[in-house]
Amino acid sequence: MLQELDGKMLVDGALVAAESPDVEVCDPATGTVIGRVGAARPQEIERAIAAARAAFRPWADLSGKARSGHLHALGDAIAADADAMARLMTLEQGKPVNEARGEIMKLAEACHFYAEEATRIHGETIPNDSPDFTSIVEREPVGVVGAITPWNYPAELVGWKLCGALAAGCTIVIKPAEITPFTALAIGAKCVEVGIPAGVVNVITGPGSVVGQALVEHKGIDKIAFTGSSAVGLRIQQSATSVKQMSLELGGNCPLIVTASANIDAAVKGAARRSFRNCGQICIAINRIYVVRAVYDTFVEKLASAADALSVANGIENPDADLGAMASAEPLDKTRQHLDDATAKGARLLAGGKAPEGSVFAKGHFFRPTVLADCTHEMQIMTEETFGPIVGIAPFDTLDEAVTLANDTPYGLASYVFAKDADEIRYLSQRLDYGNVAVNNVDAGIMNAPYGGRKQSGVGYEHGREGMLQYMNFKHVRMRFDLPGA
Ligand code: NAD
Repeated sequence: MLQELDGKMLVDGALVAAESPDVEVCDPATGTVIGRVGAARPQEIERAIAAARAAFRPWADLSGKARSGHLHALGDAIAADADAMARLMTLEQGKPVNEARGEIMKLAEACHFYAEEATRIHGETIPNDSPDFTSIVEREPVGVVGAITPWNYPAELVGWKLCGALAAGCTIVIKPAEITPFTALAIGAKCVEVGIPAGVVNVITGPGSVVGQALVEHKGIDKIAFTGSSAVGLRIQQSATSVKQMSLELGGNCPLIVTASANIDAAVKGAARRSFRNCGQICIAINRIYVVRAVYDTFVEKLASAADALSVANGIENPDADLGAMASAEPLDKTRQHLDDATAKGARLLAGGKAPEGSVFAKGHFFRPTVLADCTHEMQIMTEETFGPIVGIAPFDTLDEAVTLANDTPYGLASYVFAKDADEIRYLSQRLDYGNVAVNNVDAGIMNAPYGGRKQSGVGYEHGREGMLQYMNFKHVRMRFDLPGA
């Protein structure tokens, strides 16, 4: 699979050789160069956008049922090749193969979900003041979408945009993250394989500040669908040179609150999963935990043991490992920096805090899951997104204090609560200033429900019907009739 994609971009229905395929892509577990992609030149960007523009009207004019058929076919083709696609993802991103396979299957699920939504696009009839007028509100596709995606979920974060946009009748130019371009190219190749018309899906590669920025500034792009850091999201919002729609799914700094009524073992299990899965490189990762003082010591001890029990390994050689390599040196450096900052300010290191031992880890970006207790909001770990396998814990005395601490952040993506008392659950879910609140579970996003952030975590939604409506405009058609006898 990699061989077919090496040095390529997907433009106008074909994998074409990049003009300057000199961006190296490395296996983060070994440092080995696995392939190269191009830094798209202006003419390559123009060709991709022109192809998407030319394909737009015919694609938008297809029936919802026809677009649905294409998306179902895409979901089936992706699921059928999940093993190879998962291996490719692990090679460039580092997560263990079985976790990557799970992500590929969720991408297939997104294809099928939006295939169904494509058949249910409908408008409304709005009453007017007099009977000879009728207003209908129709939904029309926005046009050509520029999708810019990060590296932590190289398949799903492309897929949510691709499927929502295609279901709505839009065409798309995708610019994946520099370090994980091959998964996006593989998805693009599947679109070709299942007969999605040429130009509907295009994948161009290269640095965000050049290629991503070119999409943002291009007048031929009608909407930017971006997932990435808040800093780049803000830059994108400020730098568009023509008015265009934007959805921005940005960073997080997500709290977990554990109350007196919580099932402690379930809370520990949830915290271990959502703090360390994908090495904590998740926008909705639990970064900080507030535990009621009465059970604080017990919780801290149990979470440290749970972290110590997790395995770290090369995700190709150990497909079942709990943690693979981190995707690059950058999040690893930030993890170390947040660890040093916290311990220098008095946090207690209870688990991890270092790379796993052994020569197999020498050339990769590996780190043990790390637990810090007695943290305060003077520490970066409690106030900034780390994007690494590290979590900070602090005690609280009252629910009000827990809410104040949890909301003490510029971010508003996801928050978590473990509690059994219904009053506590209602109070916390109402007051947590987040787009997603997960109670007694740590899966804040599901395909059927809208998923989005607030504050510096972004604008717009993915998932659910709302995820498709982000790619549609309303059109109000107001009609006057000469009614017989009026
Ligand atoms: P990033 O912001 O550095 O890059 C994201 C994408 O933007 C990449 O494709 C990059 O090439 C591109 N880019 C960079 N500069 C650009 C510019 N000036 N113009 C246009 N495009 C540009 O983020 P990252 O390091 O790849 O990903 C990690 C971040 O993504 C974290 O902050 C994480 O929280 C966030 N994230 C958010 C969600 C969500 O759903 N809210 C999901 C996953 C990741």
